[in-house]
Formats: sequence, structure tokens, C-alpha cells
Amino acid sequence: MRIVLVGPPGAGKGTQATRLAEKLRIPHISTGDLFRANISRQTELGKLAKSYMDAGNLVPDEVTIAMAKDRMEQSDAEGGFLLDGFPRNVSQAGALDELLQTEGIKLDAVLDLEAPEDEVVKRIAGRRVCRKDSAHVFHVTYSPPKQEGVCDVCGGELYQRDDDSESTVRTRLEVYHTQTEPIIDYYRAQGLVVTISAMGPVDEVTARALEALSGK
Ligand SMILES: [Zn+2]
Repeated sequence: MRIVLVGPPGAGKGTQATRLAEKLRIPHISTGDLFRANISRQTELGKLAKSYMDAGNLVPDEVTIAMAKDRMEQSDAEGGFLLDGFPRNVSQAGALDELLQTEGIKLDAVLDLEAPEDEVVKRIAGRRVCRKDSAHVFHVTYSPPKQEGVCDVCGGELYQRDDDSESTVRTRLEVYHTQTEPIIDYYRAQGLVVTISAMGPVDEVTARALEALSGK
């Protein structure tokens, strides 16, 4: 299956992408991983992307698209793939369509993870991370530490990252609404969109997603 995953920040997209890719036995292609891989291997595209990032600019669509093309042409992606973080706007969606067309392939589904805005803000803004080890993550409501402000694992101090502040989350949501959400309408016109609720336990959301995709 060839799938595009979309959803607002805080909907658990990364977690679901990893789980779905594993269940469906297709590679999970995320733009974050693409950038990191190209930069660490010092490919031409990686060097180009890095020059924009070092200057504090967004990586242009053409560069992202070229990286995605390289990745989708690798042998493990022959039977399908799950795209995460790409396309992120209508212009990239159009470029992806052209790309797939030249390869003679089509998308099977666009999985839209839906989460109420206030819930998303609550999920992200409630995160607390350990200063000693960023893998030690808690949540003030959903997985509170035994003692407030203290890591259960190592006793380190818990803090809220700048990225997780409510104002940053609201800004990221705004970008999602204006830039990314329009691709849902774009794909709806092609009959590709399946929308599921991203609320509830991780396992349930994965099961819901697989169920919804089985109809595609
Ligand atoms: Zn810790």
C-alpha cells in the first residue's frame, strides 16, 4: 500500500507511522529521517538542505521532493510506503502526484488523524522531560511522575521544553491549518481520504487505522 499520513502536531503521528509501517510491512518515510540521512551521508541534496538550514531558512520544496523521490525508488519501497511529513502543502502534493505518475504508480490512501485542538494543546503542553535524559518523558495528566517535577527513573529535574509551550503549539497548529490541512481537500477530491480519530490508547488508534485502511 502507498499511504500518506496527515494530522496535526500532537496527534501521535510519528508513533502511529512507525506502528503502521511495521504492521503493513512497508517502509516509514519521514521527512525528518530523510533530511538526517542525506545530511549524514553528505549527499548533494543533503549538503544543499544543510546550507538552507544553517542559514535558518526552510528547505525548498524541490529539495524535499528530490529526497523523497530517491527514497521511494529504493527496492524496499517497491511494495509500498508510508509517507510522514510529506507532502506538507498543496504544492508538494501536486509534485508528488507528478512524480508517482512518471513512475506509473498511485497512492492508495491518505490517512487523516483527527484530534481536537484543545486536546492536542493539552497533550503537548503537559509534557515534561528529564534534564538528565530526554528519553525520560512524563505528562502532568496522562503519566505524572510520582513526585512533581522529579524524574521517576533517575531523579533528574523535569522541565517543559520551549517547543512544547502552549504558544509554540498554537503557532504550529496555525501553520498546520493554513499549509497542510488544504491537502486533505486536495486528496478528498481524488477519493483517497480516510479520517479516523486519534484519541484514545495508542493500540486502539492503530487498530482503528488498520481497519479504515483495509477498505482501501
Ligand atoms: Zn531521568
